[in-house]
Amino acid sequence: MKILLIQPDYPRRESTPRELENRLLPSYSLILLAQILKQTGHEAMVLDGFSNWVLTGKGSENDLSLGLGRLLHQEKFDLVGISVYSPLRKEALNLARMVKEQCPGAKIVLGGPHPTRLWQNMLKANTGLVDFILLGGADESLPALLETVARRGSLQEIPGLAWVNDQGEITANSRPVINVNLSKQSPVRLDHYLSAIGEKELHRAYLVTTRGCRFPCNFCSQLWKKAVFHPKERAILEARHFIEELEVSELVFYDDCLGLDPRHSADIFSAMAGFKRKARLVGISHIQLLNPLWLDPFKAAGGEAIFLGIESGNLKLRRKMNKHLEDKEICSAVERLRRMGFKLGIYTMVGYPSEEIEQLSSTYRLLLKIAPEQVIATVYDIKPGDMMIEWGIKSLMLSENDYQNPDRRIVNYMSEAELEEAAGMADFFESSFNSRKLLKDHDPAWWLLGMDPARREQAREKAERALAKCQN
Ligand code: SF4
Repeated sequence: MKILLIQPDYPRRESTPRELENRLLPSYSLILLAQILKQTGHEAMVLDGFSNWVLTGKGSENDLSLGLGRLLHQEKFDLVGISVYSPLRKEALNLARMVKEQCPGAKIVLGGPHPTRLWQNMLKANTGLVDFILLGGADESLPALLETVARRGSLQEIPGLAWVNDQGEITANSRPVINVNLSKQSPVRLDHYLSAIGEKELHRAYLVTTRGCRFPCNFCSQLWKKAVFHPKERAILEARHFIEELEVSELVFYDDCLGLDPRHSADIFSAMAGFKRKARLVGISHIQLLNPLWLDPFKAAGGEAIFLGIESGNLKLRRKMNKHLEDKEICSAVERLRRMGFKLGIYTMVGYPSEEIEQLSSTYRLLLKIAPEQVIATVYDIKPGDMMIEWGIKSLMLSENDYQNPDRRIVNYMSEAELEEAAGMADFFESSFNSRKLLKDHDPAWWLLGMDPARREQAREKAERALAKCQN
């Protein structure tokens, strides 16, 4: 069968093509899925921000509907799989509509944390558009679905499949699939992905060495709620492919938390330290996982920066988030990383329920102490898959239908004015700590909300004034 896998992205415009390229990374997870499909005898292609940029002429604007239009003009697909991330559900459904119009025979399959939690709502609202939803990991269920469709077998055999059955009932065969056998998967390589779009060069890439995380932060929508580890040999081969063969200059380890098993990370980075060529490495970890056992080899392999989530400078608020970090733990972790020569990126959040300006002021003071090279400040967002959506629905503060408004990029309890205020505070944090762009592919809240320069400036100044008043 001929399959197209799509990772939707926002329409983007930058001042130069190079600036745009910096924001686009090939989708590791869909390239892996395409590879699995190829090994089971299918033809599979990936359309993501980067491949769309190449396919549409490497300009300074990017819009996946243009690349998809070209592909649908040239080829017919039997099935199109679309990964849905909550803020991008509008783009995901628009691309699905394009497929149904221009290639009506293609089955549309959705996956990702958003439809995994809201499968009933999405199938009901998009009857006739969405054929199937795969709950949890699609590594095994997507090949099983293709095989079953090809032999006209029973859909009930496929774990994690949700669909509208012949009686018109919305049904799912099981809970989301989280136990995927990662040891059977071969290392991700980009040869096929790049040759399909006629590209040879890649400057930046990312990979993961684990899936999931064992920490219980209640605002986090990671599907797995536990960590599963890629075989070390696979991670090393992937890193070698990116660094020595494709010669990327920057490789991001987008694990939820690097160092969950320090020996696993240490073995991967020790092997990488012996590579003939080095790339600038950036990793995402956790204050409680900063073990020299893996940090030393990470540094030796080219590790330049570590990102850590502190979310708030206020201990009580962190406890409410189920993020149990003591102030002294944060300080000693930062000192340790600085002594080792790492640059620091810090994740914070603005607008967690009950957060007061005094607590935001504590966050700002803590950031001043840490002096990170980059801050990524998100606005609190209730994403399908996190615990907060369940509490919000139970307390009637939120309903599943709130996610049907595709223009609401950030779903929470705030009014439009409050959202802009929170985006202004996040913008103030980010602009105050921005001496080095360690992660280039972050989309700030003001940009997601489509705030024009004047509204952005106004909101940021308001945040600055509120903090100054609080500090006095
Ligand atoms: S926010 Fe980070 S540490 Fe917390 S559960 Fe999510 S991935 Fe784990």
